[in-house]
Parts: sequence; structure tokens; C-alpha cells
Amino acid sequence: MKITDIIPYPVWVGSRNQLLVKVETDEGIYGWGESGLSSRELAVAGAVRHYREILLGRDPMQRGALWQEMYRGQYFEGGRVLTAAISAIDIALHDIAGKALGVPVYQLLGGKHRDYVPCFASTGSHGEKLIEDVRLLLSHGWTVIRTFPVNPKNIPGSPMVVQRTQLARGLQEEDLIFEPRESIGPTAAELVKVREELGTDFVLGIDYHHRLNVAEAASFCQRMPAGTLDFIEEPIRAETPEAYEALRRMVDIPFAIGEEFSSKWAFLPYLERGITDFARIDVSNVGGLTEAMKVAGWAEAHYIDLMPHNPLGPVCTAATVHMAAAVPNFSWLEVRRSPTEELGFYDETIFPVQLTLEGNRFLVPDGPGLGVEVNEEYIKRQEFKFSSGPRLRKRDGSITNW
Ligand SMILES: [Mg+2]
Repeated sequence: MKITDIIPYPVWVGSRNQLLVKVETDEGIYGWGESGLSSRELAVAGAVRHYREILLGRDPMQRGALWQEMYRGQYFEGGRVLTAAISAIDIALHDIAGKALGVPVYQLLGGKHRDYVPCFASTGSHGEKLIEDVRLLLSHGWTVIRTFPVNPKNIPGSPMVVQRTQLARGLQEEDLIFEPRESIGPTAAELVKVREELGTDFVLGIDYHHRLNVAEAASFCQRMPAGTLDFIEEPIRAETPEAYEALRRMVDIPFAIGEEFSSKWAFLPYLERGITDFARIDVSNVGGLTEAMKVAGWAEAHYIDLMPHNPLGPVCTAATVHMAAAVPNFSWLEVRRSPTEELGFYDETIFPVQLTLEGNRFLVPDGPGLGVEVNEEYIKRQEFKFSSGPRLRKRDGSITNW
């Protein structure tokens, strides 16, 4: 079998762009992959086109060797753009291999450990609505719930979703004020209130979306009684592991880090030095399933569970479900579809065949490949819409992290 084409499709799905990649072969078998470098889809599509020239005529079954060639076949190894492209191609090659052998992708990864993959839900609400949302999720059987920080400046709601919506409405960037220090008091207070009102029989976390510095993150954590939070996701940026080590000395809440990591080498200090407690691996950014399984095994050696990042659509979700099925060390999969959230990423017009979300869990599919079909004729007609992450500012005009 030979690769005959690799086609990137950066398309708008729901409330964001997704970069889908199709790999075709001379035997008529094709595979779908997805890249996860959000808001930089055109750069990644360029890298995919570059790799196309290298991979035409090659054997798609040699995915491990092709991974090495893509990652190391230039002087400047890796990096987020290239690895996001490699991720999409690698996932598509797994889809092809599964179809060619007539097995689900998890069989290529070591076989099935579990029949379904448990998920966590998110709510961007605040105040009384947050209590209502958590109660609603609990009543629907969701037992792992993630929240987001309060932004006193902006209207209530998930900063990510609301701000994207604001931008789409033409709101000026300068209106997107975020003062990290002002967010920590009200955020801590409302999380404490959630526990007071609804108890401790569920997992509660927050994604601070790396908006704090070390001192702010420590102050935030210290404002809550022990046991309020089961995890804090990315309180600070992750370029410097030493900063997380400094934060770890001041706080004892488990960390969930890694969604931005684009190789096993990025995970290295976090696993080896014990400064993440959940690995937020993203198969569409880390280097596809080939790289993800290596990180998974390494995490297992440190008794760290995977809590995969999965903010994209059905292709990334399916790849992550197959990985989750095939590893022993797994906690919960992110899914952006629950009684409190519907971002339109699972559009059945675009993805007529996709994995089944049954309540708070994905069933592990048993058909060949990933188990996803994309309506290619439809996405060919869709346009890419320029979109970038909000550029938040403090009142003094300086940039702060989104
Ligand atoms: Mg996150």
C-alpha cells in the first residue's frame, strides 16, 4: 500500500475552526486525522502540505518510522506547528492501518482495557448559576466537573466561550480586560460555596487557563479549605517546570498539566520531577497516537493518570477514546458536550458517523479504524474563518494570558 495524497481541510465547525487531514492510499483505503494547534490552523496546514511531498509513495503502515522521519528529518526538530501536523497525519495513518487490518485502532495500541471511557463535563457559569449547573450535571450522572475562573470585568459565563462570542460580535479587543489578581477571590469563594451547597461526593476542578503567576496561583489555592478542589488545571504557564516546582512547595492541590505539550520531551520534566498529577495529553498536539502511547507508558511508571485534552471534534475524540481504551492509567476524557455545554463541535452534517456519547461516557467502538466518517463534499464547500484567541489585557494596557 502507498500513500497517494494528504489533504488538509481547515474548516469552521460550530464556534471554531478545526483542521481535519485526510490521507489517501492506492488501495482506496483512507484515514482521517485532526490537528490541535488552535487558531494557527493555516500554519499547520502549510506544514501538512510540506510533509505531503515527503510522504507520497510511502508505506502508510510504517507509521512509527514515518513519525521519526517527519520529526527528525530536518535540522530543526519538532516544535508545535510541525508536531501538530505530524499528529494529524499519524492519527490518519492509524485509521488506515485499522481499516487495512480490519481492527479498531485500540487493537493497534495493545488491546482494550475498558468498555467505555469516562468523561468530565465543563461549566462556564458563575454565582448561583454555577450551583444550578453543577446540580444539573450531578442529576444527569456527571461526577467529574470542571469550572473556569471568574472575570469580574466581563459578563458572567465561560471566559473562553463568552469572549469568543464577544469577538464574533465585533467587540473590541481592548474591551477584554482580565485582572488575574481580581479573579482569584471571587473564584475561590464560589468554589467553596459549591462544596458547601452540594457536598464532596463528586470531583471538582478548575481550568485557570494559565492566567496566573506563581504568587497569584498560591494565593488562589490558599483561599480554599483542603479538599475543595480535586485538581487545578494549568494555574500558570508551563514553559518553566521550575515555576511549577516553586508553586508545588506552596500548595497541595493536584496539578493537571500538559495540553500544550508537543512531544515526550516536553512531558519529561513534569513526569520525572512529579510536578503534574494528571497528564493533560492532547493526541492532536503531542505527536499523534504514536507519541501519546509513549507518554502514557511513562506516566504509568509514575502512577500518573491521563486526563486528555479534547476540545476539538469527533476525529480527535475518537483517537483519544482508542488511546484511553488501550491504557491502564486513565482518569477522565474532556468532552465539550454535556447538559451544560453544546459548542457545536459534533455536527452530524459534517461527521455523519462518529462515536457514541452515552451519558457521561464514550462507548469504545469495535469497527475497523477510528470509527469516524467525514462528509468531505460538505467540508470542501466550507470556508475557513479567520479566528484568533482573545488577547486579554490588564487595565494598564499590558497583555495578559488568555
Ligand atoms: Mg485547559
